[in-house]
Amino acid sequence: MLEKVRIVLVNTTHPGNIGGVARAMKNMGLSDLCLVEPKEFPSEVADARASGALDILANVTVVSNLQEALADCQLVVGTSARERHIPWPLVNPREMASIVVPAPQKAAIVFGREDRGLTNEELQLCHHHVNIPSVENFSSLNVAAAVQVIAYELRMEQLAMEKQESVGSDRPSWGTDWDIELADHEELERMFAHLEETLVDIEFLDPENPRQLMPRMRRLFMRAVPDKVEVNVLRGVLKAMQRKLAKSGR
Ligand code: SAH
Repeated sequence: MLEKVRIVLVNTTHPGNIGGVARAMKNMGLSDLCLVEPKEFPSEVADARASGALDILANVTVVSNLQEALADCQLVVGTSARERHIPWPLVNPREMASIVVPAPQKAAIVFGREDRGLTNEELQLCHHHVNIPSVENFSSLNVAAAVQVIAYELRMEQLAMEKQESVGSDRPSWGTDWDIELADHEELERMFAHLEETLVDIEFLDPENPRQLMPRMRRLFMRAVPDKVEVNVLRGVLKAMQRKLAKSGR
């Protein structure tokens, strides 16, 4: 059940951390690891730190940007050690697991750089943010340790679900009873690009002074978790606006 959860590491600097992540994943039953432009990979240091988890490293996908890592995912969670300028729906690792594990969708959990974490733009690609509630004045965990905490909670949730399945419980869960498949990352990004273009066309968004309009629009739509039909309807509305504008000769 945890095969559908992809761990994404962005610009990891130390190959030892990649090995540590592979080991943490294998311990907890995760297998899908994707690296976005790692500084050094493959690497003997990574192999050594992975211990017996070489199969995870052998099956790693390496991509050149985060969008590519997320393209086929319908549920994206970003990790962050600090509060950000525009707060996003924030959960702790246990709550995150209760959302991700029962959901039928392909999910990605994104981890940041050792020195700087994830950028605001990267975090704005996510539906939820997860924070490991560490102490305030020393909040940042080593990235492999952070993956371990998250993977452990996923495992605990999975074990709890298996137990409940055997006694026939039907816990409510996110997105399981929806009639239409949720839009994936790629479809959402095309919708946001179309929205931005249209907002410029109707002169609501000033490209010279965009302020926080698009991040706020993103947060609104990410909170709604749109399905494929809803995204198509929204794009139809945008297209109609552009058509009307073209007709009026502006
Ligand atoms: N100095 C960076 C932290 C980088 S730690 C910053 O302030 O953002 C490297 C990565 O480990 C983070 O990007 C995140 O993916 C994960 N991580 C570390 N501490 C975490 C915490 N308390 N909660 C959630 N993720 C954390």
